[in-house]
Amino acid sequence: MPTTTADYVELEDRYGAHNYHPLDVVINRGEGVWVWDVEGRKYMDCLAAYSAVNQGHCHPKIVQALIDQSSKMALTSRAFRNDQLGLFYQKLTELTGFSRTLPMNTGAEAVETAIKAARKWAYTVKGVGYNQAEILVFSQNFHGRTTTIVGFSSEEQYRRGFGPFAPGFTLLPYGDIEAVASAMNPNVAAVLIEPIQGEGGIIVPPQGYLAQIADLCKEHRALLMMDEIQSGLGRTGKMFAYEYEDIRPDVLILGKALSGGLYPVSVMLADDEVMDVFQPGDHGSTYGGNPVAAAVGRAALDVIVDEGLIENSAVQGEYLMERLAGVDSEMVKEVRGRGLWVGIELHPEAGGARRYCEALQKAGLLCKETHEHVIRIAPPLVINREELDWAIDNLIGVLTGDRVLQATS
Ligand SMILES: *Cc1c(COP(=O)(O)O)cnc(C)c1O
Repeated sequence: MPTTTADYVELEDRYGAHNYHPLDVVINRGEGVWVWDVEGRKYMDCLAAYSAVNQGHCHPKIVQALIDQSSKMALTSRAFRNDQLGLFYQKLTELTGFSRTLPMNTGAEAVETAIKAARKWAYTVKGVGYNQAEILVFSQNFHGRTTTIVGFSSEEQYRRGFGPFAPGFTLLPYGDIEAVASAMNPNVAAVLIEPIQGEGGIIVPPQGYLAQIADLCKEHRALLMMDEIQSGLGRTGKMFAYEYEDIRPDVLILGKALSGGLYPVSVMLADDEVMDVFQPGDHGSTYGGNPVAAAVGRAALDVIVDEGLIENSAVQGEYLMERLAGVDSEMVKEVRGRGLWVGIELHPEAGGARRYCEALQKAGLLCKETHEHVIRIAPPLVINREELDWAIDNLIGVLTGDRVLQATS
């Protein structure tokens, strides 16, 4: 039996595909913002599974929903109905204002669903010529890892070796409204965008940019499809990041925190005009909309609202930015973000963010670099001021090369 970190690392590396390069920390327990490794060391999770655990690890109410539902009825397939799905739909409509939900499992599947919806809407509603539909996407995008999605990535490594790719996507620079205006043409079915690019390095576009895109979409009758899989559900200090510009997309894509980390749950949301393009048989997934996913999803949404996680994200996030803005380190190029979602971009001379993430691990903070030079700080939204202060003290200690503080026990 493996017991040490090295044993578990060896086991994974020997029998698993090598499609990740994780930090060598083997976690076996989590609660709130904290996780423990197999050797009993305690860490603060500052990645929160890419914002899937906004509600904190193993939130008791979501765990209970999972236990209760999975011991009663787990999977019916959509060939039959189940008593949980309608309640989940209803909750999503109440929270988002969109009239209809289409449930899937992973984020990438929900993005694929939105792409299919946009294309069919273009042919059957807008009147675009068959197979001519175009979708505008943005450099540094991240929408998942299917062959269609990586086909319109600007990240060379995501694509290399995986072609041929699906046509119908036009890649534009992110943050440049003129580029969107000149790309608009009658064949454009949709604009697919992240309101803040997470994997791209916590890139916050200029204020007004999303609203201008929304206007262009209206003018040219194209759908605005917002991928809020990572930015949504409280991460930025609002329920959805698009609320910062007082707009409403035509299609909203959610995943990750929609289950608080307990289960893969994703959805595409839209109003009738778009969602009605799907007829029985057009699209589906064996596990999509299963009773466990629906019950877990409903509990996960309740926790975000009932526990004030959006407000906490706004308040603690502002404090985090304030303290980091004052950091005196020649290695730091820029600190940016919104809510509890902050990217610390380092100068190239710092030698890459990975080194810092390894140093942070020793200090008891689990962070992951994104791109080469950005440290991402995205703890669960349940974090309190004391925990945040502890994290910031350590972070600043590592960034300024000071001593490493002891983990609070
Ligand atoms: C994580 C992510 C996805 C993909 O979700 P998976 O569940 O990993 O397929 C898509 N879009 C954004 C913005 C994401 O952050």
